Formats: sequence, structure tokens, C-alpha cells
Amino acid sequence: MKIELDVHTHTIASGHAFSTLQEMAQAAAGKGLKVLGITEHSPGIPGTCHPIYFRNLHVVPRRMYGLELLLGAEINILDGQGNLDLDEDYMKMLDIRIAGIHSLCYKHGTIDENTHGMVQAIRNPFIHIISHPGDGTAALHFEPMVVAAKEHHTLLEINNSSLKPPVTSPMPVRTISPFSVCARNMKCRSSWEVTRIFRLI
Ligand SMILES: [Zn+2]
Ligand SMILES: [Zn+2]
Repeated sequence: MKIELDVHTHTIASGHAFSTLQEMAQAAAGKGLKVLGITEHSPGIPGTCHPIYFRNLHVVPRRMYGLELLLGAEINILDGQGNLDLDEDYMKMLDIRIAGIHSLCYKHGTIDENTHGMVQAIRNPFIHIISHPGDGTAALHFEPMVVAAKEHHTLLEINNSSLKPPVTSPMPVRTISPFSVCARNMKCRSSWEVTRIFRLI
């Protein structure tokens, strides 16, 4: 499979990744990607950048090393209402916006509440992609998410975390199987290969 883009990546600005923006762009170009999305974590993740980082992204060229750069954020879904931790004024300035649940800043609810929050994020017109919904961080009903994602043209990501059994979540392994099986069927082997986006048709 020829992979042409990766739009979920983090640099040192996110506090737990180890390459600069230019190093990432150079490496992506070396791997033959046409588009690289850099989506730093929003404020709820410890050690990530201040919102002013997002406000100043206009100074960064959108072409580097022969590829197109999309600069955005991976924004935290905070609760069962689908509240996000980056204001719309900042979101408007971004090329690409991912939303996801991260245990460091998520108020867990029931499976119905978690699903409702996820569906609200999927319906949010600012959000293009939902990150790693199958990683087991929160118990979720997948069917309403998939239906909402199809209706609102929001992408659902499958990545390496979706291939692992949940470590901290009480969610049984079988509930992540639809994502796991799909990723396995694609014979994904490395995180570079697996971090990819599916458009629902
Ligand atoms: Zn991420
Ligand atoms: Zn994430």
C-alpha cells in the first residue's frame, strides 16, 4: 500500500514527542508522503503547548521539502457532553482539527454518556477527524459513532493503539474488535503505516 499522507503527528511542542516540525517534514518527505499534518495536543495534556502556539501558526510555511503541511491540533474531548478544550477562536485558525478522548483529561461517564460525547464531537462542524476511538480509553458504542461519522463526513482513525488490548480500561477486548480486525486486515505493521485515516463511504 502506498501511503500518501499522515495527518496525525506530534512534535516536541506536544511535550511527549521528540522531533521538531522541520525534522518531521524532512522525514515525511523522505518517506515519499505528499501531505503531512502536524496536530499538537491541546491544553489538557500535561506539557503541551500554550494556545498561543496555535494562534501563531500562520507564520509557518505550508510547503516544506516538497510536501504540503497541514497545521492543526488534536483537541481533547472532555466529557459526555462533547465539550472540547480549545476555544473556537483558536480552532478557526487551524488547517486541520482532530478530536479525541485522552484519559489524562477526560471525565468518564457511562458507556451511553461516553458515546454521546463522542457523537457530539463527530457532529461538531470544526472537527475533521476523531483520533483512536478504538483504543479502549473510554467504553463506547461504535455503531452510533459510525452512523454520525458517515452523516457528518467526519473521519475515524485507526492506529496502533487500536490493535492492543486495553490496559487501563474495563472495556472488554471484544468491543474494540471491529477496529482491530479492520486494521489487521490492512496488514498494518508499523505506527507510520497504521496511523492513517479512513473516509466512510
Ligand atoms: Zn495524537
Ligand atoms: Zn491522541
